[in-house]
Amino acid sequence: MNLILLGAPGAGKGTQATKIAERYGLVHISTGDIFRANIKNGTPIGKLAKSYTDRGELVPDEVTCDIVKDRLTWEDCKKGYLLDGFPRNLFQAEALDTFAKIDGVVNINIDQALLLDRLCGRRVCRECGESYHVSTLGGRTTCARCGGELYQRKDDNPETVAARLEVYNAQTAPLIDYYTKKGIILNVTGTEAPADVLFEDVKKLLDLL
Ligand code: ADP
Ligand code: ZN
Repeated sequence: MNLILLGAPGAGKGTQATKIAERYGLVHISTGDIFRANIKNGTPIGKLAKSYTDRGELVPDEVTCDIVKDRLTWEDCKKGYLLDGFPRNLFQAEALDTFAKIDGVVNINIDQALLLDRLCGRRVCRECGESYHVSTLGGRTTCARCGGELYQRKDDNPETVAARLEVYNAQTAPLIDYYTKKGIILNVTGTEAPADVLFEDVKKLLDLL
């Protein structure tokens, strides 16, 4: 089973992605994580990506599509994969159609009023990627799951978040229509409730595929 996870920044894609990949035995492929790893390691792709991710803009399509196309040829993808953060515009979606067969697109709908505070207050574990909100940490600086150090993503600041939401609305949201027309969209509604509640809805839909 090959899936796409769609949703605005802050909709909770990362958390759902971990849960979906675990339950259905899929490889989790996050283009955001790939770019962050490249930036951290100072690779040529990282040097190029940094100027875009810092501004909340999309890394050029050719670069991004090449990375994903290559990643999908790895042996582990044979068991099925979950794309998180890709595709992000129509160009990428059409490119993906030329090298992948997608079975379902989980679309997390969420009230955008929730997102600014969620993203600006987000802290992420360096080790396992789990995310938290500062308001629930009571000053703790380590991950409850693995003890890893929590950090704030460089793009989780008000200006960059605003840019990311604009990019989402202008370029990524139209993909909901694209995949609805293909008949493979699976809509769920994100809320302030814990991620487990949302995952129950996701499971109900994916168990039918
Ligand atoms: P978000 O929380 O905004 O969904 P991601 O971790 O998915 O964040 O992505 C972070 C940044 O990485 C994006 O703002 C963008 O600059 C870059 N990026 C990630 N995926 C893509 C993509 N498919 N195409 C272009 N740029 C991407
Ligand atoms: Zn952790």
